[in-house]
Amino acid sequence: MARPATVTIDLDALRHNLAQVRLRAPGAKVMAVVKADGYGHGLERVARALAGAEAFGVAALSDAERLRAIGLRNRIVLLSGFDEAADLDVLRELDVDTVVHHATQLALLEADAGSGPGAPICVWLKFDTGMHRLGFAPAQAEAVHARLRALPNVAPDIVLMTHFASSDDIAGAQTPAQLGLFGATTAHLDGAASLSNSAAILGWPAAHRDWVRAGGALYGLSVSDGKVGADFGLRPVMRLSTRLIAINRVAKGERVGYSATWQCPEDMDVGVAAIGYGDGYPRSVPAGTPVLLGGKRVPLIGRVSMDLMTLDLRSAPDARVGDEIELWGPGLPVEEIAAAAGTISYELTCSITRRVRAATTG
Ligand SMILES: *Cc1c(COP(=O)(O)O)cnc(C)c1O
Repeated sequence: MARPATVTIDLDALRHNLAQVRLRAPGAKVMAVVKADGYGHGLERVARALAGAEAFGVAALSDAERLRAIGLRNRIVLLSGFDEAADLDVLRELDVDTVVHHATQLALLEADAGSGPGAPICVWLKFDTGMHRLGFAPAQAEAVHARLRALPNVAPDIVLMTHFASSDDIAGAQTPAQLGLFGATTAHLDGAASLSNSAAILGWPAAHRDWVRAGGALYGLSVSDGKVGADFGLRPVMRLSTRLIAINRVAKGERVGYSATWQCPEDMDVGVAAIGYGDGYPRSVPAGTPVLLGGKRVPLIGRVSMDLMTLDLRSAPDARVGDEIELWGPGLPVEEIAAAAGTISYELTCSITRRVRAATTG
């Protein structure tokens, strides 16, 4: 029998979520962010379903290559930018836009211009308005913009962008401060503007401007504490499931699993599900974290191991070997499992490993 651990990707839900993003940010063009293999959902299948997006955002040139290889003609933006001269030829060959965020990149573009006129490259010029990760300091904005505009190998329509650090914090002061600084920084520059990630699409309409950059929202994921995608009208795209492969009667006082962390309070049935951290299910969740069995929540007990987890079946007397189990998906929000693991939903969807079988619906 094949290993039953399966990740099912709902393409209908992806399209629904793209439509929701458009409703939230009317008038803005949408960059569908598909880095990290489409947040673990599978780059090609996600990109095909989202082919209506005006652009795709990737973190690696190899991802851009994969998108061109399946025939997608959409704009593609290399979000972390190029890092060596040879990348410029690949950008041209694949017709891919690049973010420019650092002086070393500016120097490479200037050297490239001096070595003969290649086709112009579309640039997304990134300013650091407070996240302090990537971007030029606002004080350099006009000088950098002027140097780029002077280059024959840079297309004249430069997109101006920044990235928010805390746009999930709707009451906080950081996003308004970043918005204000971006406005001041770009007041005398022309070009379309792009600021919003998913949380800003959902929470900061003033930041929508010309291009929104949607990642998590497209996959139905929330980054807001205590909220799930459905709270924003989004549908979960990933469903992780497996099957029950054993049910064992274990006596009161016996301990279950590695390091014997869980003790049976009475004689009881312990279920064994074929999934573990080797599939990408987080080992860090505590006993009591739910799985869905026959539509009902059942708590896992003991340590999650590499291939298996154990379940307390006292509330599921009808459970049978072979029954399907949902680890997260439409019936059990991944945000809830992520909270139990002390992380965010993005990390869980990105962590599904290669041995997990992939299927699509919709
Ligand atoms: C990943 C990323 C996004 C998307 O962020 P979400 O929170 O997933 O919507 C947007 N912009 C940049 C620059 C990114 O790196």
